Amino acid sequence: MKTGTSMKKYVDRLSQRFHGSRDVHVVLDYFLNHFGHKVGFASSMGAEDQVLTDFIAKINPQTKVFTLDTGRLPEETYELIDQTRSRYSELNLQIYFPRHENIEKMVAEKGLNLFYESIENRKLCCYYRKVEPLQRALSGLDGWITGLRREQSVTRWQTRLVEFDEDNGILKINPLIYWTEDDVWKYIRQNRVPYNKLHNANYSSIGCAPCTRAVPKGGSVRDGRWWWENSGHKECGLHRSNREVFFEEA
Ligand code: SF4
Repeated sequence: MKTGTSMKKYVDRLSQRFHGSRDVHVVLDYFLNHFGHKVGFASSMGAEDQVLTDFIAKINPQTKVFTLDTGRLPEETYELIDQTRSRYSELNLQIYFPRHENIEKMVAEKGLNLFYESIENRKLCCYYRKVEPLQRALSGLDGWITGLRREQSVTRWQTRLVEFDEDNGILKINPLIYWTEDDVWKYIRQNRVPYNKLHNANYSSIGCAPCTRAVPKGGSVRDGRWWWENSGHKECGLHRSNREVFFEEA
């Protein structure tokens, strides 16, 4: 990997090259070919990520696609993982779990549902169940692909299609950054992509079961996540925005 100024120039060049691009096939084709086994896709199994899985399965199914099983996912998400494995049988789908010793210690000290008690507790739970497994999944990669879209939340509106992820020291590629929610669902319908049944019950962004609920009509995409917290802080620590500090938004 490049470092320092040359990395910044490299990211700026890539960013300019793909600025404004909504052509996901072209973007993915470039990065999957260019980085080969050194790029991976982090899927939360959400609608956007299922779109990217469909593209990746068609372009290069040997790409590392991984998801994090936090141990607190809704049953519908587990069903979708199995459906996805059946639909894309060639897909290199890997599942990462938290380290059991971290979870056992946390639960012994603070209880199973610690996240409702304070933001600090919620950050701790997200760290052990999501961030630490993500760091393991990213180890050895030069870049990771995400399904972020700008319009999903206030913490994502400045996100670029190609960025340098300082926390993990690798490139971050966001091919759907210029897509709208309508674009996502149009693609899912046209390509019969499997999706989480909870989306049919007004769940827009789906995470862990105790921290996700349906969004009332007119609500924004991430209103159903950590609804008891301030709306400007609804990230789990997996994605740092340009304006916020890691874990501040977690
Ligand atoms: S979303 Fe909730 S249950 Fe899942 S890791 Fe974060 S705090 Fe824990």
